Amino acid sequence: MHNNTAISELIAAGKWASQRGWVPATGGNFSARTESGFVVTASGFDKGQLGSHTFIELDHVGNRTRGAGRPSAETELHLSMYKLIPSANFVLHTHSVAATVLSRVIKGHSLNLQGYEMQKSLAGVSSHLDTLSIPIFDNHQDIDHLSLLVSDHHLHTPIEHAVLIRGHGLYVVGRNSKEVMRHLEGLEFLFSCELERLKLEGIQAGVNP
Ligand SMILES: [Zn+2]
Repeated sequence: MHNNTAISELIAAGKWASQRGWVPATGGNFSARTESGFVVTASGFDKGQLGSHTFIELDHVGNRTRGAGRPSAETELHLSMYKLIPSANFVLHTHSVAATVLSRVIKGHSLNLQGYEMQKSLAGVSSHLDTLSIPIFDNHQDIDHLSLLVSDHHLHTPIEHAVLIRGHGLYVVGRNSKEVMRHLEGLEFLFSCELERLKLEGIQAGVNP
């Protein structure tokens, strides 16, 4: 994929995610893997109003080749996700209410979802009877440290679709922009369902099913 194609797809994804309230107050960042490296949103821009000037272009090892904006510290975690998951060509990082709250309510190291038909919106999941496990990492301002925790985790439990950062948000991957958007929308639906379920059934009943 050419950088310009990736940038237009990320601009569309930004508008879409912003309309749904998943990237408030310039939060989050989006990226894609391209034939010449990566493109990633620069820090501090409203994801609903992205333009070609709001992207930084990187080579295959993560050095900037184009774009004047300030790189987000979280770029490191995007690059780690690409390294760990060779099939990932898009990474969306969002700060939704459901992801932020649920990752705090669940005290363990993973959010385990089971019994929801919509689990099938994630690639490779064919039944509501499967357990969809999303790892949760404690938030850290040191992104290198956070990247290391994610990489270590991946060695024993490969990350397939997404990771949650506690009290912070979601990183979700996909092979193309359509798939990453479906994964994000599917997960947000599941997070909202799980939050409602915990409210109705009680936290104790719901933790780590
Ligand atoms: Zn963030």
